[in-house]
Amino acid sequence: MKKLRLATLWLDGCSGCHMSLLDMDERLLDLTASIDFVYSPLVDVKTFPEAVDVTCIEGAVSSTEDERQLQTVRKRTGVLIALGDCAVTGNVPAMRNSCGVDQMLASVYCQREAINPQIPATGLPTLNNHALPLHHFVKVDLFIPGCPPAADNLFAALSAVIDGRAADLRLNTRFGA
Ligand code: SF4
Repeated sequence: MKKLRLATLWLDGCSGCHMSLLDMDERLLDLTASIDFVYSPLVDVKTFPEAVDVTCIEGAVSSTEDERQLQTVRKRTGVLIALGDCAVTGNVPAMRNSCGVDQMLASVYCQREAINPQIPATGLPTLNNHALPLHHFVKVDLFIPGCPPAADNLFAALSAVIDGRAADLRLNTRFGA
């Protein structure tokens, strides 16, 4: 049987959702019988490949680089899964939305820093005014909420995709741009 090509992507999140992937424990071994990890922070692949069957995305969209990556992934992915509350609602990254980028940066780098307070001149992403969930930018096929999402729910969703039951789930949950 042809293996399903699975990718995971980490946008503006804390990596906790990827920890839930690992929390599937020995069930990961079961999944590897049906799945190839073709791109992920967990594997050493630098470029997002073509023809990916399923991509799980952790984190909100907070920068122009996040937007660029998300659009590329959407074009190259069959089933796109918003993994965790940051991807589903904005959650923690969106807590800055009410104060604006400049005030948030000043708060983080200047107001709480006793030694040499300053906003770094380089190395920061170009932040959007708001951190937003994935469906504000692209169509999302499945939503797995939770902070972090339960490993059981993640395993159930991936099993459904492998078994070809994802189309039924998508009918109920597909949403977005
Ligand atoms: S949903 Fe929770 S665990 Fe996942 S990236 Fe956001 S803050 Fe972290």
